[in-house]
Amino acid sequence: MANKMRNCPECGKIFIDTGAGMCNDCLRKEEQYEVVVCSYLRDNPGSTIKQIYENTGVKEKTIMRMLRAGRFVGKGEINYPCERCGKMIKEGRYCNKCAQELKADIKKIKDTMNQRKQAKENQGKGSIKSRGMYLK
Ligand SMILES: [Zn+2]
Ligand SMILES: [Zn+2]
Repeated sequence: MANKMRNCPECGKIFIDTGAGMCNDCLRKEEQYEVVVCSYLRDNPGSTIKQIYENTGVKEKTIMRMLRAGRFVGKGEINYPCERCGKMIKEGRYCNKCAQELKADIKKIKDTMNQRKQAKENQGKGSIKSRGMYLK
């Protein structure tokens, strides 16, 4: 594993990244934040990130990062906005509607890609055939 020097995204200090993504100081702070947020969530299930921030002082950005890392799974409900439309959700990255729309979008893109691939393959066959005809 290659350790590399980089700037801590939280405090800007240069540190050696061993995969944690931030310096030791910030990592320790984040662990404390996690305890604070988790205990707040236990007492106030279904809180929004904004409410957590207002009551614990933990930055929304930090809460979102912990959320994405799955730190709050099973530790209490948290409401946060869908990354696509901003609707409040409790799990995943998108609300049901957006998740479905995204799935449909991906399918559409895949279909288009398959169609193009097929068209290309047919074209290839066609040219081989015509070349074969020329050779005769
Ligand atoms: Zn730091
Ligand atoms: Zn959405």
